[in-house]
This record gives sequence, structure tokens and C-alpha cells, in this order.
Amino acid sequence: MKTRILVVEDEEPLMLLLRYNLEAEGYEVDCVARGDEAEMRLREAMPDLALIDWMLPGLSGIELCRRIRVREETQTLPVIMLTARGEEGDRVRGLATGADDYIVKPFSVPELLARIRALLRRAKPAHVASRLEAGDIALDRETHRVRRAGRELHLGPTEFRLLEFLMQSPGRVFSREQLLDGVWGNDVYIDERTVDVHVGRLRKAINVGDTKDPIRTVRGAGYAFDETFSGAGAG
Ligand code: CA
Repeated sequence: MKTRILVVEDEEPLMLLLRYNLEAEGYEVDCVARGDEAEMRLREAMPDLALIDWMLPGLSGIELCRRIRVREETQTLPVIMLTARGEEGDRVRGLATGADDYIVKPFSVPELLARIRALLRRAKPAHVASRLEAGDIALDRETHRVRRAGRELHLGPTEFRLLEFLMQSPGRVFSREQLLDGVWGNDVYIDERTVDVHVGRLRKAINVGDTKDPIRTVRGAGYAFDETFSGAGAG
């Protein structure tokens, strides 16, 4: 069964952009343009996550979020708020009202997708496959074990999360900032160079002997898990 996302956004171009990208990512998307309409929709069908704009006609995003938290059926629904830049006070209020995360417009689509995945993972682990495989590398989210060609690898907790994050989206290039957000969480302040240190440690842990490196460094952009990785030796 597909993961369902309710998008509540009154700006049509943005709504279309969200629908297109979320559907491309494999989600089932339901869009409404009004806050009061969203409230009614939530009584008909329960999504797995709601993406709610701050300023909405009918019922504001903040009030909608407050009502979601009050109603028993929707209390635990994962909510991400979309806010305009410069609304710092509002953003804090957004989280206080019960949103799980917020993202500031204009935002990058990969970052939004990473936030959605992270929130779904926290909220409903069952929606995420327990095992990720690429080439001869297998990562088990439940046991936190990583094997390469059947041999167990020893990764630190940060390297494990970093590998998991990259393996979730093969081929997608993540900036250091996106990796910090996705792996360390957005509340932590860590220097971006820390990412390079941990990628170095991860490479050392997974590339034992003459094996092929699945992690691609994209100059000036960041890192990606090589989507063509087959697991063969370096040759
Ligand atoms: Ca709006």
C-alpha cells in the first residue's frame, strides 16, 4: 500500500510542484487548497502525513494544525508546516502548536523529500522497508547490521545513519547541509566539514580491501550513493 500525503496549499503552482514531486517519489497525493476543506478531508480519510501551508483561506494552517492535535483520531498524524521566509516567531509558534517539522519557502525539493522520509521513519517505521540492498551491500534497519558480500561490517552509529540516508535515494546528490539535516537532525549545530570526516570513516568501514566504493563525491555539490553500484571489486 502506498504512503498517502495530504497537501494543503492554496498557491496553485506550488501545489502542482508538490504533487508532481511527491508522486514521482511514489507517494499517493491528495491536494486541497483550503484549511476548512482539509479538516473535512481528514474526517473522510486519514493520510500518513500532512504537509500544511501556514497561510490558508478558510482556516489558517496553524489553526488546522491545532485542531489536528486536539482530535483523537488525528493526534499522532505527522505534520510538516510550510512557512514563508522571515517568520521566525511564527515558525516557533508553528512547532508549539504541534507541527512535527517546518520548512521555509522557497525550499529545495530534495530537502523537503528528505524531511518527509525522516518524519515518516520516526512516525511509522512500518512504512519504511527494514532492509536496504545495493550490489553486495545489505543494511538492516532493525538489527542495525551492515553486510558486504556476506561479511559483517563495523560502522559507528553516525556512519550507519549516513549510509542508510544515502542508500535510501540512490543517485541523488545531497549537499553537506542536507546531510546534516537528514542524518544529524536540524536542531544540532555541526560544522559542515564534519560530514566529510564521517563520509571518510564510512568509506573506510565499507570498502574493505580491493572493493568498489559505492559513494560518489560530487565536486562542489556533495555526496551520493552510486545508483550504478553493483558491488563488484574495483578492478
Ligand atoms: Ca498560502
